[in-house]
Amino acid sequence: MDSDLLIIGAGPAGLTAAQYGARANLNVLVLEQLAPGGQVLVIDALENYPGNVANKSGYELAMDMHKQAESFGAFFLTAQADSIKKEGDIFTVGLSDGSAKTSSTVIIATGSKPRLLGIPGEKEFTGRGVSYCATCDGYFFKGKKIIVAGGGDAACDEAYFLSRLSQHVTIVHRRDTFRAQKALAARTLENPNIKVRFNTVIKEVKGDKKVTRVVLADTISGEVFEEETDAVFIFVGTKPQSAIVKGIAALDDEGCIITDSKMSTNIAGLFAAGDIRSGTFRQVVTAAADGAVAAHSASEYIDSL
Ligand code: NAP
Repeated sequence: MDSDLLIIGAGPAGLTAAQYGARANLNVLVLEQLAPGGQVLVIDALENYPGNVANKSGYELAMDMHKQAESFGAFFLTAQADSIKKEGDIFTVGLSDGSAKTSSTVIIATGSKPRLLGIPGEKEFTGRGVSYCATCDGYFFKGKKIIVAGGGDAACDEAYFLSRLSQHVTIVHRRDTFRAQKALAARTLENPNIKVRFNTVIKEVKGDKKVTRVVLADTISGEVFEEETDAVFIFVGTKPQSAIVKGIAALDDEGCIITDSKMSTNIAGLFAAGDIRSGTFRQVVTAAADGAVAAHSASEYIDSL
């Protein structure tokens, strides 16, 4: 057997599971298709993570978690997991290079990726004014006109980051209230560099070589109008990356994996943790907590075999 515990995904959930699994003396293998970190990499400052870590970026936290897990003996492999099957008590995870890894237990911690708006011009201008990451691309639009789409935590957080680079940030949100946590919503509304257009949707992104304007529609009056902008940052939610367990683990209507409070799925020995899990409050701290619980449950399951 290649490992006792195989973890797919190295965001906060997977990295914490790796640390807890290794400390429980399990032989832990973590598969990550790119670099460790996942969605946490785009966080500029960890304001709501417990303890005094607001001076740290998501990248720094992810690197610390990675080092910590490795220091306790977890192994990391850069590889894309494509398939998973269970025969008897053994899981086999197929990799994109054609090889496979076997394990007694598996934790799915594959997280989510940004949801697209699906409007004309969005794909065409991605990388030329359309972006899904303020920390990565915000600097290119210093002092420029910026539109932010969405009304959740991500839109408010990222608009706040952008408002430190430009006084011309406009949030376009389809409803008349934010979905974001109250503290984030209040800070957004009070920010002099952020204008908010409620009850408005973006119909199209326009430009030539790069973005120059958006077509907006007022959802109440029906008025359609254009607004000049240099950038459109889109934060309209996330999509779970659960394709690997489709047809294997039970999923909810959104494609998130259904677990119990021990992070167990409907398959014995298969666990899920973090943003991929159904019905969870999606925070870095809850992802990390899920990872700890999942690794503990995996260890208990192995003891029961
Ligand atoms: P979210 O909470 O699902 O919010 C998505 C927003 O986009 C909502 O306001 C939604 O509008 C809007 N939206 C969705 N589809 C749209 C469409 N087709 N057209 C226009 N608007 C659309 O997603 P998120 O803000 O990306 O956050 C994802 C998860 O990460 C959440 O669980 C969040 O709490 C967490 N997160 C936390 C923090 C933090 O704690 N600081 C930061 C970032 C993310 P409606 O409101 O009308 O549905």
